[in-house]
Amino acid sequence: MSEAPRKAPSSTDNTIPATTDNAGIPVESDEHSLTVDANGPILLQDHYLIEKMAQFNRERVPERVVHAKGSGAYGTFEVTNDVSQFTKADLFQPGKRTQMLARFSTVAGEQGSPDTWRDPRGFALKFYTEHGNYDLVGNNTPVFFVRDPQKFQDFIRSQKRTLDSAVRDHDMQWDFWTLSPESAHMVTWLMGDRGIPKTYRHMNGYSSHTYMWINGGGEKFWVKYHLKTDQGIDFLTQDEADDLAGKDGDLHRRDLFESIKRGDHPSWTVKVQVMPFDDAPDYRFNPFDLTKVWPHGDYPLIEVGRMTLDENPDDFFVHIEQAAFEPSSMVPGIGPSPDKMLLGRLFSYPDTHRYRIGPNYQQLPPNRPRSGVRSYAKDGPMRYEPAHVARPYAPNSYGGPAAPVQESVDPAGWRTAGEMVREAYKLHREDDDFGQPGTMVREVLDDAARERLVSNISGHLLDGVSRPVLDRALRYWRSVDKDLGDKVAAKVDGARPS
Ligand code: NDP
Repeated sequence: MSEAPRKAPSSTDNTIPATTDNAGIPVESDEHSLTVDANGPILLQDHYLIEKMAQFNRERVPERVVHAKGSGAYGTFEVTNDVSQFTKADLFQPGKRTQMLARFSTVAGEQGSPDTWRDPRGFALKFYTEHGNYDLVGNNTPVFFVRDPQKFQDFIRSQKRTLDSAVRDHDMQWDFWTLSPESAHMVTWLMGDRGIPKTYRHMNGYSSHTYMWINGGGEKFWVKYHLKTDQGIDFLTQDEADDLAGKDGDLHRRDLFESIKRGDHPSWTVKVQVMPFDDAPDYRFNPFDLTKVWPHGDYPLIEVGRMTLDENPDDFFVHIEQAAFEPSSMVPGIGPSPDKMLLGRLFSYPDTHRYRIGPNYQQLPPNRPRSGVRSYAKDGPMRYEPAHVARPYAPNSYGGPAAPVQESVDPAGWRTAGEMVREAYKLHREDDDFGQPGTMVREVLDDAARERLVSNISGHLLDGVSRPVLDRALRYWRSVDKDLGDKVAAKVDGARPS
C-alpha cells in the first residue's frame, strides 16, 4: 500500500529509530491510518491504529482516593549513628547504606489539583533492605485528625466534595472537625505556617504513629520517627499560596524534579524518639494515640542517619504512580504498636493497591523487593515474575522454602487480654483533646506566627461556614486557647453579621 505524500521523518534515516507497535513490529506510519482511498473508510485491519486507541483509553489506573497528587524520587539512606541497642533492623545497623524511594503528596486534592492548597502532605518512604521492603508511610505532621480507623473514611469524605454539587466545602470540613474534638491538635497544626510548605524539600516528615523496635537480644522499645529537612523549614503564606495555585499548580512537583535534575539533592536527617517498653502504661499521655506527640523534653530526639534523594524517575507513571507504600511492610527488628489507626492501615493500604494496580502490584518496578521473593503466591492478573518455588504449596519435599519453626520466632507484639469492647483509648494522666494544641499555640508559636494562625483560621471560617457550625468552631478554638479563640471570634463576627 502507498504512504501518503506528506511524510514524518522516515525510519530509514539511520539517526531515528523505527517506531514499532507494542509487539515490537515496525509500523508503517505514525501519521496516517489505513483507508481505502484518501477519503475512504478506515480499515479494521489497521492493527496499529486500534492498538493506539485502545491503549489510550486504558492509560489511567484509578487515582488514590487520598494522596492522589504526588511526586517522588529514588535515593539512599545512610546510617550515621549507632542505634543497634534499640533495633536489629538491617537498614539501621552502623555504616549501612540502603537504596530507597520517596513519594510526597497532598492529601485531599485530586490528580490535577494545585500543589499549594492548605493540606497535610504525605511523606512515604520505601527502603529496599536485605530482609525485604521496609515502608515508612507518614505525613509532614507528627499527629493526625482522628485516632480510630472507624472515623477515617468519614473524615476524608468531609474534606473532599459534596454529594450534589461536587465542590469542596468548608462547612463540611468544620462540621466534622468541631464534632470530633480529637482533631484540634492537627487542625491547629494545619492552620499554622506548616500547613502550606514552601516546597516538598522544605518540610519535615514524621512517622506520626508509634512503632516497635526490637534489638538483637529481643528487647522491645516504642519509637516515633522524625525526618528533619536539611533544606530548612519554610512555608508559604495563605496569600502566596492562593496566588501560586492559579499560576503554577505543579509548583512542588516541578521543584523536586528540577532540583534533583540540577544536582541539588535534597536530604533529611532521620531521628527517633525512643520510649522504654515498660514506660507506656504510666506515661502522662497515651503513647499510642495518634493525636498526641511525645514532648521532646520527655523523649529527646536521637539521630539515626540521613536520606538523600538523587535520582528522578525516568517514567513518572511506572515509578511514582505505581509506587505502592504500605505500613504493613515491616522488616525484622520493627513491629507495630497498639495505635489503632496504624492497625487499621495495615489492612487498608495493601487492599487499596490490590484494587488500584492489581494483586501482583509487588512485582512492579518501584515495589519489587531487591532482596528476592520466595513466596508461594502464584498466578493472578499481570503476573510476570515466576514463582521461585519447586512446588506451589508448603510444606513440600522438594526444597521448600520453609518458614522457621514457630518456637524460634519472637513475635513483634505485646501482652494483651480482656473483653471485646468498642471504646476510646484508656485515658492517661494528661490526655485531653485541647492540651497539646494549646501548648503549641502558647509555647511554640511566636507572636507573628500566632497572628497568621488567627488570620488563616478566620479566613477559612469566613469562606462558606454556616452559623451553627461556626459557633461550634469558636468554642473549639476558645478550648484550644482562650485568647486565640477570642481573636478568631472578633475577626469572624466583625466581618459578618451573626
Ligand atoms: P519542643 O519545643 O521541644 O518542640 C516543638 C516542636 O514544634 C519542634 O519540633 C518544632 O519543629 C515544632 N514547630 C515549631 N514551629 C511549628 C509550627 N509552626 N507548626 C508545627 N510545629 C512547629 O516542644 P514539645 O516537644 O514539648 O512539643 C510542643 C508542641 O510542639 C506539641 O504539642 C506539638 O504541637 C508541637 N510539635 C511537637 C513535636 C514532638 O514530637 N514533640 C513535633 C512537632 C511539633 P522544628 O524543630 O523542626 O522547628
